[in-house]
Amino acid sequence: MSMDSQKFETQAVRAQTGKTQFREHSTPLYLTSGFVFDDSEEMRAAFAEEKQRDLYSRYSNPNTSEFVDKICKLEGAEDGFAFATGMAAVYATFAALLNAGDHMISCRSVFGATHALFTKYFPKWDIETSYFPVNQIDIIESLIQPNTKIIYAESPTNPGVDVLDLELLGKIAKKHKLLLIIDNCFATPYLQNPIKFGADLVIHSATKLIDGQGRVLGGVTVGSRELIREIYLFSRVTGPAMSPFNAWVLSKSLETLAVRTDRHCENALKLAEFLESHPKINWVKYPFLKSHPQYEVAKKQMKLGGNIVAFEVNGGVQGGKMFFDSIKMCSLSANLGDSRTIVTHPASTTHAKLAVEDKQAVGITDGMVRCSVGLEHVDDIIKDIEQALERV
Ligand SMILES: *Cc1c(COP(=O)(O)O)cnc(C)c1O
Repeated sequence: MSMDSQKFETQAVRAQTGKTQFREHSTPLYLTSGFVFDDSEEMRAAFAEEKQRDLYSRYSNPNTSEFVDKICKLEGAEDGFAFATGMAAVYATFAALLNAGDHMISCRSVFGATHALFTKYFPKWDIETSYFPVNQIDIIESLIQPNTKIIYAESPTNPGVDVLDLELLGKIAKKHKLLLIIDNCFATPYLQNPIKFGADLVIHSATKLIDGQGRVLGGVTVGSRELIREIYLFSRVTGPAMSPFNAWVLSKSLETLAVRTDRHCENALKLAEFLESHPKINWVKYPFLKSHPQYEVAKKQMKLGGNIVAFEVNGGVQGGKMFFDSIKMCSLSANLGDSRTIVTHPASTTHAKLAVEDKQAVGITDGMVRCSVGLEHVDDIIKDIEQALERV
C-alpha cells in the first residue's frame, strides 16, 4: 500500500522516522544538537547539500522532520519547516519572502501578534499592508498595487469566528499572480486543506489543537518546495527552529488529532446550539450553525465547524464581567485548542490594546466571549456556562 493513498488518520499515525537498531515501536526523542560524519568527504558532501541528512538541529533533526513530513502529508504539501512558535512561523515566512518596498494584502481579522507585526514592525522595513474587512473579499482587487506580492488570511478568524471563502481567495491570487498564504490554525489540517483551494503556503500555530493539551509551543509552514526552500534558508541562518522535544510531543499529538477534533467539534456544535436558544445571549457565532453568515462557505471548505464558539452575553462589560466571575469549571485563560474548555474575554485581554474602531472592525464587542470548547463531557461544559449565565 503506497503511503500517499492512505487516509488522513492512517498517515497521522503511521508516517514515522525509520527505526534505529533497537527496533523501537514509537519514535524515540533525538535530543541532540548536532550529528557526526564518518569522514571529511561525507562532511563536505553534507554541507554542500549533495546528500540529504541531518547536520545540526537548527537546520533539521529527525523529530522535527517527522513532524514536518506528517503535516505535509496531512495538508497535501510538498515540503515544510517547523518553528519554535506559531509567530516564528508567521514572521519567518514573511521575512524570507518579502523585500523592502513590497506590499501585501491581508484580512483585517488576524491574530493579534500578526496584526502588530504588520502594523508596527514591517513598516520599519518599508513593507506595507492593506487590510480588507472579513466580509469584503470583493475589495481585494482594488487594493492590489504594482508591488503587491502576497494575500494573507486566517479562516475561521480569531476571535470573531468568521469564515473566508478560500476558493475565491485562491482564484484572485492566481489571476493576479500573487502568493496566497493561509493561517490554518483554527481549522487544523483535519478540517480544512487550503492548498486544495489554491493556497501556496499554509501556516499553523501547533500550540493550539495540534498539541491539543496545552503543553508545548510550536509552529509550521508548509507548501510549495520552491517557497519552502527560501523559508528554510532564511531560518537556517536566523535560528527560529522548533526544538526536537516539542517536535516529538507534537508528532505524537498528530496521532490523535482526528479523534480529538471530532469530539471538540461535536461538543462545540452542541454548546453553540444551546447558546442560540438562551435568553441571556444576544448572538452566537459558530461556522456550522445555519445562522452563521458564511455557513454555506464553511460547509464547502470545512469538514466540521471547529472548536471555537463566539457569543455575546447581555449587559455589556458588566454582563461579561459577571459571566466570567461566575464560571466554575471552565478555565479563564487566553490559550485555545486545549483539552480543557477555556473562556476568554477578548475586549479586556487579548484584544484590549486595539483602538475602539479596530475592535469594531473585527467584531469584538464588550460582552463578547470566545469559548475554546474542550474534551470534557459536553453536559458538564453546558452546565457550567448555564449556571454562569444565570448570574448575568
Ligand atoms: C496562537 C496563534 C498564532 C501564534 O501562535 P503561537 O504558537 O502562540 O506563537 C498565530 N495565528 C493564530 C490564528 C493563532 O491562534
